[in-house]
Amino acid sequence: MLRLKKDIKCPKCKRDCVFKWQVFKNGSRHIRQECPVHGHIKYAPKIEPYLTIANQTNDKTIQKKLF
Ligand SMILES: [Zn+2]
Repeated sequence: MLRLKKDIKCPKCKRDCVFKWQVFKNGSRHIRQECPVHGHIKYAPKIEPYLTIANQTNDKTIQKKLF
């Protein structure tokens, strides 16, 4: 898990990245890794810890809309 934690940071600025679910036109879902500064970095594999982080990101988005 410690090794994987490095992968959630931006390779350029080492900031924590945002992971979001993105649904393609063909219906397949992918986890998008974005840096707050550099934007899209890559698509993360659908494994932990990316799955958990992406799901949490969706929850936060919904909560923000409620406010
Ligand atoms: Zn960055």
